[in-house]
Amino acid sequence: NWHNGEVPTERSADLFQRARRVSPGGVNSPVRAFKAVGGTPRFMTSGEGAWLTDVDGNRYVDFVGSWGPMLLGHAHPQVIAAVQEAVARGTSFGTPAEPEVALAEEIVERTSVESVRLVTSGTEATMSAIRLARGVTGRDRVVKFAGCYHGHVDPLLAEAGSGVVTLGIPGTPGVPAHVTADTIVLPYNDVDAVQAAFAEFGGQIACIITEAAPGNMGLVPPAPGFNAALARIASEHGALFISDEVMTGFRAARAGHWELDGQREGWAPDLVTFGKVMGGGFPSAAFGGRRDLMEYLAPAGPVYQAGTLAGNPVATTAGVTTLRLATPELYTDLLATSLRVRELVGEALVGAGVPHVIQAAGTMFSVMWGVTDPVTDFAGAQRQDTAAFAAFFSSMLDQGVYLPPSAFETWFVSAAHDDAALTTLSEALPAAARAAARA
Ligand code: PMP
Repeated sequence: NWHNGEVPTERSADLFQRARRVSPGGVNSPVRAFKAVGGTPRFMTSGEGAWLTDVDGNRYVDFVGSWGPMLLGHAHPQVIAAVQEAVARGTSFGTPAEPEVALAEEIVERTSVESVRLVTSGTEATMSAIRLARGVTGRDRVVKFAGCYHGHVDPLLAEAGSGVVTLGIPGTPGVPAHVTADTIVLPYNDVDAVQAAFAEFGGQIACIITEAAPGNMGLVPPAPGFNAALARIASEHGALFISDEVMTGFRAARAGHWELDGQREGWAPDLVTFGKVMGGGFPSAAFGGRRDLMEYLAPAGPVYQAGTLAGNPVATTAGVTTLRLATPELYTDLLATSLRVRELVGEALVGAGVPHVIQAAGTMFSVMWGVTDPVTDFAGAQRQDTAAFAAFFSSMLDQGVYLPPSAFETWFVSAAHDDAALTTLSEALPAAARAAARA
């Protein structure tokens, strides 16, 4: 589908025009609109393994994986078969059912959590985890880090200002100032800032929430010991430590990012949020943690939380089938694929003289464009050369490689990224790297 730069996009363009008439910006989630990179968003019709096909018949090697969920690749035959069987039995009962128990058991077996509540999106998971932390502690303030995204939860859209401790200001119109007044936004990887915030507000802080390894400002790994320090400081002050593993869970490693730090170092978060991979491509997410904390949730306890489609039998069947197929060997292979992709991308960028740093956490990684030193926080991530990225992205897209359409997103590989997929990648890289160098 690479004809001297002429890739057919008429049908996608037509659909985008139709979509804009009936939907804001023509999309149902903002980044899909290609605003940061320009060009026509591609309307996909099917996915198979590492590949996506759009309405104009173009095929792409996919490094987005639906923003993380598609660990096994698209339309994995065993997941599809399990889902088809589940659908045939009925799509929602509004009662307890076996697949949701199996999924909860699978999550409990693999991670630090003892008890888990299923919800339908990562946003809902973090929103509910914070409510639970506030309910358990009887405190209101929440510590979050600049550049971490936890879904579009009102108090978590607060952005950082300057200074050691910034009382949150709304990150978007529509969030009342009083809603973010209890949000303390700190620079990522800065233990001193956390200490200072607790010195001033310790008795009022319900929780610290952080991405286990931030993947929403590009990939910015936690400095060694950072997550452990957060767990310790929270515990010293009677606050809870919430690790957001919506993106990293069952993705960075088999047990989530926790496998790479907490499990080795002998500590566990009080609460953890999950999403993406555990839904197998369906709307499904979860939050969990220590049993004594989770027992505060209704109907066991007083903190209310509920959902009509929570634990949906089709979604939980997809999730549990996906997790059962995600064996230790699969993660070993996934890491090898991820390392190979990083190597190919790095070689091409070096070859074209494009300054960059590739940053990783387990199998997840991203390219930081136009920087020469590792990026450790949001301020650093914002210094990226987004023009270089946009040029690279467009060239890759025209050559059949679908990347996250923003320099602030993580790349995802799947177990289906085979030699054919990596060949397409490596053939596309030199021209894209040259385009980035010229930008
Ligand atoms: N937390 C993290 C770390 C995420 O990456 C995301 C989504 N990218 C969310 C929460 C929100 O999840 P959802 O989009 O399912 O609401």
